[in-house]
Amino acid sequence: MSFDVIVVGAGPAGAATAILLAERGLRILVLDRARFPRPKICGEYLSPETLRVLDRLGVLKAVDHAGATPLAGMRITAPDGTAVTGTYRAIGAWRPYRDHALALGREVLDAILVDRVRALGVELRERTRVTDVLVDDGHVVGVEAMDADTRVHVFRAPLVVAADGRASVVARRLGLLREHRLQRMALVTYVRGVSECGEVGEIFIDPPDYAILNPIAPDRINMSVVVPLADAAAWSHRLEDFFTARVGQLAHLARRVAGAERTAPVQAMGPLAYDVAAPTVGGLLLVGDAAGFYDPLTGEGVFSALRGAELASDVAAAALQAGDCSAKRLGSYQRARRRVFAAKARFTHALQFVVARRRLANLTARVLVRRPGLLDLLLGVVGDYVPPGRLLHPARRR
Ligand SMILES: Cc1cc2nc3c(=O)[nH]c(=O)nc-3n(C[C@H](O)[C@H](O)[C@H](O)COP(=O)(O)OP(=O)(O)OC[C@H]3O[C@@H](n4cnc5c(N)ncnc54)[C@H](O)[C@@H]3O)c2cc1C
Repeated sequence: MSFDVIVVGAGPAGAATAILLAERGLRILVLDRARFPRPKICGEYLSPETLRVLDRLGVLKAVDHAGATPLAGMRITAPDGTAVTGTYRAIGAWRPYRDHALALGREVLDAILVDRVRALGVELRERTRVTDVLVDDGHVVGVEAMDADTRVHVFRAPLVVAADGRASVVARRLGLLREHRLQRMALVTYVRGVSECGEVGEIFIDPPDYAILNPIAPDRINMSVVVPLADAAAWSHRLEDFFTARVGQLAHLARRVAGAERTAPVQAMGPLAYDVAAPTVGGLLLVGDAAGFYDPLTGEGVFSALRGAELASDVAAAALQAGDCSAKRLGSYQRARRRVFAAKARFTHALQFVVARRRLANLTARVLVRRPGLLDLLLGVVGDYVPPGRLLHPARRR
């Protein structure tokens, strides 16, 4: 069978791209090294605007039925203990898709998206690892992959979408991966027995670390602690000890989880940030983490993966219809990404500057206590439904 598009990876970015292209009548092949449901290290927070894209993909009802926890807002605790709680609400003309974010396990979310891919009749090959990218005369023409029985396959198509996440073989093979100077590691586990945890997500800022509690279910709270990579490196064989000690140093978090019970081993991931250069070859689009990642503090990874899939599918469909998947034609995808993501990226970099500095973080929290409207505006930007530029003119209606 011949395909119009090969999608490498069936996480949120790949599944969403496949759904949107299949809905346009294109023949799609999706390859994933895993079998779904599969786990994924993540804070498991879905911003309000993520829900809009999930609805467009036809999966929001399934997400609701799966028991996702609505989060009305976020509580942020500064290093000195000053705590502020912001809510997701309309800011001028900007309204959240719903008045809440969601907490949902990635094993569940990703399986729902993959079910939708299957329901559309897309050819999905699980346990099939892409091992190489085929390039001919400056153009990606297909991929080489190995199935669970170690059989090697070659698949060809006019367009390959790399959605193979942070370990992207495609980006690596084409020499696009770049180290980032922000060198951090995330330690993720689950706890239960934290009192009154369930209505909002909770962030604890305590430079150089920060931590997040996200209530996936009453007895399953995702607990992520992000630390400098250098501090964790020496402890790679004693992660549990390192985690316990580190939580002990985060005084406000330690008090919050005192008496809680850990229900899963600690998993680590790092370095978290990396850049990916724009491809110069034709026949290729990079979506989701395969296109780069910065930091999980603002929890927009899944949104970026889904929004990137929307942008990629528009450009891909038009390019395939025109019979032109050249690098020049596909360049409009990079420009669309810049238009959509650049302002939020500048905002998240600015936020990192604040949360890395104890006095500045305390001062910011004290300002936000006095200006709850500004806090909700900030949350709207974090939640992806208020454009970051609005922070420069907080009083304007639009
Ligand atoms: C610690 C941490 C916490 C985070 N917390 C949040 C959060 O709370 N909210 C949020 O929105 N985002 C969060 N993120 C980011 C989010 O997890 C990612 O941005 C998101 O998973 C990106 O989706 P993706 O589809 O691009 O990649 P992935 O979800 O990683 O999917 C990639 C898929 O590709 C497959 N694959 C990989 N290599 C190959 C190969 N060679 N061949 C075939 N298949 C392959 C994998 O099996 C996988 O299924 C967090 C990230 C980290 C590290």
